[in-house]
Amino acid sequence: MIEITQKFMTRNDCYTANKKIVPKGIMVHSTATSGVMAPAWFDRWNKSYKAGEIGRQSCVHAFIDDVTIMQYLPFNHRGWHAGGTANNTHIGFEMCEPKGFKYVNGKITEYDVTAQQPYFDKIYKNAIDLCVYLCKLYNLNETNIICHSEGHKQGIASNHGDVMHWFPKHGKSMDTFRAEVKKRLGKPSGGSDEMRYFEIMGNEVMNLRATAPNGKIIKPIPTGTIISGTEFLTASNGTIWLKTEYDGIGGWVAVLPESKGYTKEVFKVEDDYKKLYEQEKVRASMLELEKNSLKQQNEKLGKEIVLLQSSYDNVIMDIRKLANKYL
Ligand SMILES: [Zn+2]
Repeated sequence: MIEITQKFMTRNDCYTANKKIVPKGIMVHSTATSGVMAPAWFDRWNKSYKAGEIGRQSCVHAFIDDVTIMQYLPFNHRGWHAGGTANNTHIGFEMCEPKGFKYVNGKITEYDVTAQQPYFDKIYKNAIDLCVYLCKLYNLNETNIICHSEGHKQGIASNHGDVMHWFPKHGKSMDTFRAEVKKRLGKPSGGSDEMRYFEIMGNEVMNLRATAPNGKIIKPIPTGTIISGTEFLTASNGTIWLKTEYDGIGGWVAVLPESKGYTKEVFKVEDDYKKLYEQEKVRASMLELEKNSLKQQNEKLGKEIVLLQSSYDNVIMDIRKLANKYL
């Protein structure tokens, strides 16, 4: 369970600007300041640039350290953290860099990796926790997470090196970070069931629609196309709709019932099924051998039955002969 302490920077001009965003991503920053922890940034930044109280126009949604997550802006508030257009789309948070090292000419110096490892492990985990929480909150995934330096490469943020000037010292990168978030997010939301595949039949024009049932048409899907998905919706008329993706666009397609001829369900031969098939083939040949040996036994028993029958018949005849003699 993630614990977030909310304490909005209401004196900061970014807060009073009160612009809202629909979060489409998360930008990870680090403070480039040694040893100032998350709660201490409140007094440093809860000031008005316009009123001449502070020399910079910055505000982020949160600061985190090894023990705390301090939320300083509502997450759907437009922050001032990227120095670029990412402010319109990305939630930004700062990871507080530990005490015990220095910046000389913008470069980290006297950084003792071994001594800093316990702090790094904790803050790295807290950053992942926060990202997992925000991804779930705004229906995002790991691919929507970048750091400030990656934002610069994408042309949506100013030229800063965080956090890739720091993570590699501990053998981490934004790729390892995203992989960790991905693992934690598990299956995509709504995808609780097994993937099913449907081939579009030619009986009528099948359309990808924005919603189901019968939402706005996005585009027709050609006959023979195979679509897939895990999420279904049954309409009141009995038509079953599949949430899918065609040509890179998400939407809904009527797939069932089969009697409508919209689609034909197709089955992918997965490796598991191949393995099962091989196992079953072995089992079948063993059963064939068993069947043949039972057949042989049966034939032998049949012959024995014939022999027993004839000796029985002989005995009966003898009894009759004896009966004729004496009765
Ligand atoms: Zn930054």
